[in-house]
Amino acid sequence: MDIERLKRIRCFLLDMDGTIYLAGRVFPETVPFLDMLTDRSIRYLFLTNNSSLSAGDYRKKLKKMSIPVSSDGVFTSGDATAVYLKKQGVSRVYLLGTGSLRRDFRRCGIAHTEKDPEAVVLGFDLTLTYAKLKKANDLICSGVPFYATHPDLVCPFHPHPLPDAGAMAKLLEASSGKTPTVIGKPYAPMADALIERYGLSRGEIAMVGDRLYTDIRFGTLNGFASILVLSGETTRAMADAGDIRPDYIFDDIGALGKAIAT
Ligand SMILES: [Mg+2]
Repeated sequence: MDIERLKRIRCFLLDMDGTIYLAGRVFPETVPFLDMLTDRSIRYLFLTNNSSLSAGDYRKKLKKMSIPVSSDGVFTSGDATAVYLKKQGVSRVYLLGTGSLRRDFRRCGIAHTEKDPEAVVLGFDLTLTYAKLKKANDLICSGVPFYATHPDLVCPFHPHPLPDAGAMAKLLEASSGKTPTVIGKPYAPMADALIERYGLSRGEIAMVGDRLYTDIRFGTLNGFASILVLSGETTRAMADAGDIRPDYIFDDIGALGKAIAT
């Protein structure tokens, strides 16, 4: 394990569910880990693919859990999608998403419209209806570019995971025959958007998360150090058997903190 590389990291991108808390319960190691980073002037950002909530919603949620978070300390796949679309010059979209996502887009100058949209954007839409699916399918079939905020098939939930945007995208893929451009972890648009927004360079970034096919691949595909924590959905046996290889594996964020601090 290359501890020297770990000590050179200046910004930790932190997944939330399974990494800093699980099912609403904050891990006891979380706040000491964040305080240790702050003491060493190392930055951290909470990164999530969940586009059903806004960064502001997440900041409130984290503060309620007594987790320290800065005013720009949360970046969602919805934020990344807005940055990406703006760069493409897109300002009118047919959006399948929550009110939070729609407000975020509006703040970035991207309006939801049913008439002549420049793109169809699928988020983790908790208000999804058949009428929305039909409209989106019609638009995609008529050649309007199709984007999804993130690829996650399911969202962790007790007792059973929830169908997430990736599963919804599969439905539209099956009906339209078109594959969406996906923005969120592990793909490059999310990485490029956050580098641009926060002025970071790749070599000083590490991604910490519990999921191989989003968090760890986000690191390996985009030139960030990748750190798997075994406090969420991935067991050591799964990590050993998989073809996605994290640079580092720790039992939890506390063990990562010890490796940085010693
Ligand atoms: Mg997670």
